[in-house]
Amino acid sequence: MKFKPETYRIPDERMKPFIDSEEIWGYINSTKPTKEKVRQVIAKAMDKQRLNLEDTATLVNTTDPELIEEILQGARTLKEKVYGNRIVLFAPLYIGNKCTNNCKYCGFRSSNKEAVRKTLSDDEIVKEVEALEENGQKRLILVYGEHQNYSPEYIAHTVKLVYGVKKNNGEIRRVNINAAPLDIEGFKTVKESGIGTYQVFQETYDPVAYESYHPSGKKRDYEWRLTSLDRAQEAGLDDVGIGALFGLYDWRFEVLSLIRHTNHLEACYNVGPHTISFPRIKSAASLDITDKHFVSDEDFVKLVAILRLAVPYTGLILTAREPANIRRQVIQFGVSQIDGGTKIELGSYSHTENDKQNLNREQFTINDNRSLSEIIDELIENDYIPSFCTACYRLGRTGEHFMEFSVPGFIKRYCTPNALMTLTEYLVDYGTLEQKEKGYKLIEKNLNQLNGHQDAEEVRRRIDKIIAGERDLYF
Ligand code: SAM
Ligand code: SF4
Repeated sequence: MKFKPETYRIPDERMKPFIDSEEIWGYINSTKPTKEKVRQVIAKAMDKQRLNLEDTATLVNTTDPELIEEILQGARTLKEKVYGNRIVLFAPLYIGNKCTNNCKYCGFRSSNKEAVRKTLSDDEIVKEVEALEENGQKRLILVYGEHQNYSPEYIAHTVKLVYGVKKNNGEIRRVNINAAPLDIEGFKTVKESGIGTYQVFQETYDPVAYESYHPSGKKRDYEWRLTSLDRAQEAGLDDVGIGALFGLYDWRFEVLSLIRHTNHLEACYNVGPHTISFPRIKSAASLDITDKHFVSDEDFVKLVAILRLAVPYTGLILTAREPANIRRQVIQFGVSQIDGGTKIELGSYSHTENDKQNLNREQFTINDNRSLSEIIDELIENDYIPSFCTACYRLGRTGEHFMEFSVPGFIKRYCTPNALMTLTEYLVDYGTLEQKEKGYKLIEKNLNQLNGHQDAEEVRRRIDKIIAGERDLYF
């Protein structure tokens, strides 16, 4: 046969699967968490160095309560050093639950005939976004099932639609996406619509377990999913989020695999994932799994702390799948983003309680049903600055640049002032009287702690401008 140069492609090493189960189990089975070794690893992380797989294996194998306490303390301190005391807030918006996959853990699975299938119309999307803006949201993640209707063009259309909705002073300034893996062209199309992060969770990194949870549909292809964010990078989308669904397989294996995935992205593209998510399985209609690998609260807290230590500069997202008491606890050990006022039934942000009776469009159960306002109250009471900041990605501080997080003083120069300014906007436009009183006190206190990294007087001037009616000021 004649060789046709135009059809010949050099295989791209980067698109090769990079998880080797044996290698990962090798680390887990051969690492002994002696006191000395665990303390060495914690010290390395406190020095803001990335942990390798062996270091991470040492931490996941630690069972001595005294050492676990040291891991938690280390994560708490490191979080304060790297991220300060701000917590970024967002909300999910489910666009459509049609799905051709049959994931055994998900209420949207194709075999769940009870689920009411729905894709929001453009008008409904606008209504939902208006309702979200009226609550003070500025950052959304749009969520889709996997279905031919949710093409890259359709996803891009919904993103642009969302950015166009302005209700009073409300606007959405960052739209992230959680949807099925795309090809390179598809990622390009979605990127051009102006998204922030594209999230794809691997669910489980173990290929054998993966196969058993995904009996049919396109999602069955483990490698297509595993290499999806490589295709995103190839498409120029350098802001990606990874995650594992904890409860499908041994949590220690998933933690090491998340680090392996991070290493891969760093090695190939000079930039790690922007965020890591670690949802735990929650009850869902027609769930078809055993509790063999379910993760206890104790292990959950530990695994979040380990992720914090292992990847100091990656955002960690904790969602309202977890109840308030767990969120309160886990936030301290490394979480940087949470959702607030979350509703995941399609169309439920703009529906009143009365007309919600007949909805059966939920993917899984939400366990923190508090409003955004209640979440903000609690954050302020606990001395966290609720932040709606979207400055970095709008100023092009993404990808490799995001590594500038390691620049000393970055947080105090940009993140804290932006958090304080977006909190001011929230208080002026949506805050209760009581919230305003507490919020302005917190703002004053944090202004006084900028320690010369940012001109506190300039931040104060901008805050005054916001109070006088200006919006969307940022550094
Ligand atoms: N359909 C797309 C996909 O599967 O990638 C994206 C949306 S899916 C609705 C978002 C994520 O929800 C999934 O990746 C999975 O990790 C998580 N999820 C599914 N079922 C869940 C359950 N029962 N409890 C908690 N999280 C779940
Ligand atoms: Fe569909 Fe995603 Fe649910 Fe799987 S997890 S059934 S792909 S919506």
